[in-house]
Amino acid sequence: MVWERLLRWRNQAGSNSFAITISRCSHVVALALFVFALPQQVRSETFSQFVNGLRAEALALGISARTFDSATKGLTVDPSIDRLTKRQPELVKPIGGYIGRRTSGSMLKTGRGRVKQVRRLLTRIEQRTGVDPYVIAAIWGMETGYGGNIGKSDVFRSLATLAFKRYRDDFFRREFFDALLIFQKEGVARSRMVGSWAGAIGQTQFIPSTFRRYAVDFDGDGKRDLWGSRADALGSAANYLADLGWIKGQPWGRPVRLPNGFPRDAVTLDWADWRSFGVTSANGLAFPRTGSATLFFPAGAEGPAFLITANYDIIREYNSSDSYSLSVALLADRLRGGPAVALNWPTDETLNKAQRMEVQRRLAQKGYEVPNRTGRIIKGVRKAIRDFQASIGVVPDGYPDVELLRQLRV
Ligand code: CA
Repeated sequence: MVWERLLRWRNQAGSNSFAITISRCSHVVALALFVFALPQQVRSETFSQFVNGLRAEALALGISARTFDSATKGLTVDPSIDRLTKRQPELVKPIGGYIGRRTSGSMLKTGRGRVKQVRRLLTRIEQRTGVDPYVIAAIWGMETGYGGNIGKSDVFRSLATLAFKRYRDDFFRREFFDALLIFQKEGVARSRMVGSWAGAIGQTQFIPSTFRRYAVDFDGDGKRDLWGSRADALGSAANYLADLGWIKGQPWGRPVRLPNGFPRDAVTLDWADWRSFGVTSANGLAFPRTGSATLFFPAGAEGPAFLITANYDIIREYNSSDSYSLSVALLADRLRGGPAVALNWPTDETLNKAQRMEVQRRLAQKGYEVPNRTGRIIKGVRKAIRDFQASIGVVPDGYPDVELLRQLRV
């Protein structure tokens, strides 16, 4: 593995004399050279050389020289990216406070005003896509404060910087080319190619590849304008969720109250069965007549309980964090006129990123399938935690806390 990376690097560097030196080295010496040489190799290429190096590939993808030059003229590295890539608010704040701030106060007040303004649009979105339009409105609120903050960073500068720094490998390099294709095909003015520091575009913050695949001209003016057209932005978000498999007529789920002593397992049952077990809605919104839902404890068995449907998983595709997805879900219910719900979130300290990564590493060492090692607690990681918890006979709530880490260290 290391050897393959080394060879790949050698090919990129294209230094014959050095290549011969490496080929005669032992793996250990080669590894030392690799570790030592790689940063120098990266440093030796300037940002403008890197950007110029993207030109041939762009032209091969059908991007015109004029488009490429217009996008990259005078482009400089964004020095704030290093700091921003280390900041992920939904990963470090305790879930209860995070959700509380996003489902009350100005988020709710502004949201209610915006929902009134776009009520007819929301109806059309529901009719044409089958997606819950209040979930779309909540995503709009979460992403850009209902269109108020679509970002001011130059999309090409952000994406080129992220690609240059090889943040997430080649991911942003591909997004850079997709941004060029959007710029060329959608007839967007150069000055309008702005977005978040990570290159997300428009009122619902699509990354360029998602824009290319899922954006729709919902208002029918011939352009896909996710910056200026609320209809295009919200219609595109709904089109995206519909394509991911949104089930028409099913809610995302419900916050629920459980009978005393109810088992905490993540079982999936029909709504009618949940009702027959005495499980009730905690926010006054009735359970649907059809469909099924899974019991979920986003903050552990001592925290609030939810029944979530496959549509909740669709929201998680937009952003894999449960803090984000539950904020969208609960905000959507408030925007549709649902009552405030008092959820008793635990205030204990949550694990930091290094500790969550240790949880993932130890689960993997014990043979559990762990979908990422980056500290992100996504659905598959929770399943691995539940399986481990079940194996040692503790409540399988899938929640990574200090207790779990202690159990894993045994
Ligand atoms: Ca349009």
